[in-house]
Amino acid sequence: MNRWLLCGFLVVSLAGDVTATSFEPIPVVAAVKRASAIGRCEVVNLQVARDPAGAIRTYATLQVLETIKGTLPPQIVLNYPGGKLGIENAYHDFSPEFAAGGEYLVFFDLQADGSLSIFNGPRGAIRLDLPAGRAEKVQARAKQMLSEVRQSTGGRRITGANLQRFAPISTAPVSGQSVSTGSWQAASVTADGGSGFTEVGGVPRRHTAPDRGETIKVLVDTDFLPPGITQPQALQALQNALDAWETASSVRFEIEGTVSFGQAAINVDLNDGRLRIQMHDAYNLIPNSNTTLGIGGGVFRSGFVAQDPLPGRGGRVFAKEFDETIRSYVVLDHEKATLATLGFFEQLLCHEIGHALGLAHSSENNAEPNPLFSEAMMYFKLISPSTRGAALGTYDGPKLQESHPISNTPPFSPNRVFEIVTAAPAGQAILNNLPRINRVTLQGGDLQSDSQTLNLQLITQTGENEFVLQGNVLRCLPTSFSQAPRLSDSEIEEGVIFSQALLRYSDGIHASPIFSVSSVALWASQHPAQATPNGLPGAWAAPFFGVQNPNPNLDPDGDGFTTMDEFLFGTNPVNAESKLQITNFDGSVLQWAARPFDAYILETSVALGVWNPIGFLRVPTFGNPSVNLPTAVGNRNFYRVRRLE
Ligand SMILES: [Zn+2]
Repeated sequence: MNRWLLCGFLVVSLAGDVTATSFEPIPVVAAVKRASAIGRCEVVNLQVARDPAGAIRTYATLQVLETIKGTLPPQIVLNYPGGKLGIENAYHDFSPEFAAGGEYLVFFDLQADGSLSIFNGPRGAIRLDLPAGRAEKVQARAKQMLSEVRQSTGGRRITGANLQRFAPISTAPVSGQSVSTGSWQAASVTADGGSGFTEVGGVPRRHTAPDRGETIKVLVDTDFLPPGITQPQALQALQNALDAWETASSVRFEIEGTVSFGQAAINVDLNDGRLRIQMHDAYNLIPNSNTTLGIGGGVFRSGFVAQDPLPGRGGRVFAKEFDETIRSYVVLDHEKATLATLGFFEQLLCHEIGHALGLAHSSENNAEPNPLFSEAMMYFKLISPSTRGAALGTYDGPKLQESHPISNTPPFSPNRVFEIVTAAPAGQAILNNLPRINRVTLQGGDLQSDSQTLNLQLITQTGENEFVLQGNVLRCLPTSFSQAPRLSDSEIEEGVIFSQALLRYSDGIHASPIFSVSSVALWASQHPAQATPNGLPGAWAAPFFGVQNPNPNLDPDGDGFTTMDEFLFGTNPVNAESKLQITNFDGSVLQWAARPFDAYILETSVALGVWNPIGFLRVPTFGNPSVNLPTAVGNRNFYRVRRLE
């Protein structure tokens, strides 16, 4: 029996820039003056580990090749938030984008609390050797910067902070896993030929709720606001910013209300798909030492298994694979004077929401000659006039449509689970031909069509049982006689599985997020001595019936469901109250007794003849889900819940 932990949660990615609109490029001379120490360094080791709070941190050991300012030890260890552990990616705006083996010009920033960071975030660690995939002119700019730094110091080492105490200690400071060269790639910049999306490992990210016709829920923390900005003004500015992106794409938002987050929005560790907007920096996320006005970013999930970093959890839009954003955020620094101007405040909100949606800067060139990039909302600086507010440029809408097209949205399908029934070799052939056993009927959809017009593909599979796709039915062919109890709901939620197939729907242009079909229990069929298994597991039946082989086609508790139904539905075959049933209905809300992670379709009919689905396939994660019903048509409507096998 194999159990695979798929740690399918938590992945932190902050937009690939800190700076938002906000970063005023500092002349080299000023940067040299403000940094505590400066060195040219090679990254000789990167280790990633969790800190006691569970956050991912990277510990970089830098070989100092040249000391330009201050006193540096031969090797220096710098630790910062972010890193890659398995399929969990934490990418923090303020952290450098070190790759093992890379050579960097590093501006160190010794903080008042004695910790060491990088001056002005990733812009304080400039890669000097050319990494794969970076534009030549980025490289040329870095070389130019190094030469300007040397000029400004007259080619000599100048006085600065003593960083000797950050030399590596003899034992390894942390346990963790080394990261390979090239784990990180900078956010792309379209004026430099990038994709226009913030990317980790070359993969951008997107919210998938709009594909299902759902809104991205927005929570707002207005505990503090820039001076002179009232709460109604701030909320109107937010509405204008959300409207701008909605008008330009298939993204839909819904402001749920204002609430105090109690911590920095980026640290709210709930992967609930929400966008959290914090209109202040009361938790000091944004260092006072830099010129950042705000942050926008998202936390994403990539791949399914650590060994298989398969992109596509967020769908494939046109030809581009995306990771799935599982929460996003915006934080504004209310103490920065610029934001007291309402038009700039609104523009910054709009810009940061663009980052939350996965967009990178259109350009970070202070003298960008192309107005397409320099007049974009996603340009890296605030744009005049100050009254511009949330008006997008001609660049921004089409760019967001590359991830959220208006007229043809990508298809989708929920993750599914099922229970495997196994038999001894003599019974295997019989078992593999039983109609309701070891098979899952798949259903996908999109906002324009349904699975009738979508193409379904089995991408890969994990575990010891073979999966075969026949039409829209995925069959599993067990290879061994084994038994293991059903995983707990929390284990299923965490991605523990026995076997798993990964699939996706395509509409010919876009593909759905890759979704999983996972086995969450292994049942031995009847006793091995019986050569003709009927699919009803003896170990499941025995506690109810006292025997291993009751007739699966009878309904001993008279609740309308056969014993085989009750096995498949996860209900009690000798208790009439335990069955698939509607538990609450008042004309506007319907609840039913569901088994978590099973798939249900809610349907309506006016005369019990033709049944039409309400919404898409539902896979609740808890036992008594409720659905708000659409307004009834006419005098009479019937509703039913169907479980999809
Ligand atoms: Zn920005």
